Amino acid sequence: MRIGGVLVQYYFACKRELWFFARHINMNIDNEDVLLGKLIHEKSYRDEKKSILIDDTIAIDFMHISDNLIVFEIKKSSRLPEPVRWQLLYYLWYLKTRKGIDAKGIIVYPKERKREEIELTEDIKEKFNHIINEIKEIINLDKPPKPVKKPYCRKCSYRDLCWV
Ligand code: SF4
Repeated sequence: MRIGGVLVQYYFACKRELWFFARHINMNIDNEDVLLGKLIHEKSYRDEKKSILIDDTIAIDFMHISDNLIVFEIKKSSRLPEPVRWQLLYYLWYLKTRKGIDAKGIIVYPKERKREEIELTEDIKEKFNHIINEIKEIINLDKPPKPVKKPYCRKCSYRDLCWV
């Protein structure tokens, strides 16, 4: 089973959302936030190499190679910092464990003119074995996990499947 970065992000944001997304239940088409996110993506960093797909599994926004490999993740807002951090950490973990590549990460919030540097530690590497197993268990559930109310629900594209 391929685990992409979005599933890792959803694991930390909402396990019910993870299940919907993994089952290809997609309600993002008219979500303004998603459209805005795509627009920011397209307008930002036009000169860099973008959307690098590795093993058909992780899609990296872009990489920069100088002394080190740096992996960038572009986000439209810093509203959900923790899930985004784990998404980028997953890319660093994947590059290290599957490709033997050491990389650093930078999350960029172009609209807020902010960036955050991310590094993979031994402790986090260990945690990923558990996280990946748990993501697989959630995907294999017959029913989605129960909804848990959080501020993020207001803007979630799946809200009609949870709170109506
Ligand atoms: S509306 Fe809330 S509970 Fe439902 S999937 Fe979205 S974040 Fe999760």
